[in-house]
Amino acid sequence: MDIAAEVARLKREKDAVILAHYYVPPEVQDMADYVGDSFYLARLARTLECSTIVLCGVSFMAESAKMLNPERTVLLPDVTADCPMAHMVNKADVDAIKQRYDDLAVVCYINSTAEIKSWSDVCVTSSNAVKVVRELPQHNILFIPDMHLGHYVSEQVPEKNFILNRGWCPIHHRMIPQEVEELELAHPNARVIAHPECTQEVLQEADFIGSTKQMIDYVAQSDAEEFIVLTVVGVRREMEKMTEGSGKRFYFPRTTPVCVNMAKVTPEKVLACLRDGTGEVGMPTCVEAATTPLERMLELAAR
Ligand code: SF4
Repeated sequence: MDIAAEVARLKREKDAVILAHYYVPPEVQDMADYVGDSFYLARLARTLECSTIVLCGVSFMAESAKMLNPERTVLLPDVTADCPMAHMVNKADVDAIKQRYDDLAVVCYINSTAEIKSWSDVCVTSSNAVKVVRELPQHNILFIPDMHLGHYVSEQVPEKNFILNRGWCPIHHRMIPQEVEELELAHPNARVIAHPECTQEVLQEADFIGSTKQMIDYVAQSDAEEFIVLTVVGVRREMEKMTEGSGKRFYFPRTTPVCVNMAKVTPEKVLACLRDGTGEVGMPTCVEAATTPLERMLELAAR
């Protein structure tokens, strides 16, 4: 069976749109109507004319899409595709810190469950975190769940006091400076570009630090021909697409950064969920409390 053709037929029959994250396998990205980062996908989902959204990514992304699109059916091709970092903070720790400071904002990376968002004052993405945190009136910032992004933001906003939580993305966390240095030796003219979920030691090696989308824009606009890319390897598909015909080359660490959860999303599973309506995402019970920090982010980021 031609899976892509069958998916295209089912999309028309079910009035569905397929959204894919940059980190899912290239063959799934190729089936998608839109490819982007989690924030782009959640926001885009709001503007679509369709009754069903197939979200090719991990569960917190599908949950955000559902919260922002309550009237639409949202399907997740593999319901076990979950982000470990999205759970890496507990309520008791957040409550204890809230008790210690009067002037505190809980800032939550969008890569988190709805429940964790509901404990927060505002959400951020890796591309708008610095701007949003600067806009907040509070001096003390509890940044959850990612300590590396939190540390990166704290360096850009030194006028505020940051309290960091011990959470991390396992894929970015395990990148080590030695592997970056090996790549630099092999490709001395390459620019090093990194996602702020990498450790501080790895970020020190970078010529450019930015969100996945900002990294893609950087390689598309740069005069350089070679890039050492420090994020999940799935992004290669979009980088190659955006620079087609330019001869630009992309190198990733030897311990290939694959997100095992994003990799669970396969063309076969996309087809199955469209055909059978499986993997439907329910509305989280804390939807109101979790949507408020998302809306606040949109408002502060637009200022
Ligand atoms: S790459 Fe990291 S942050 Fe993104 S979904 Fe995978 S584990 Fe989570």
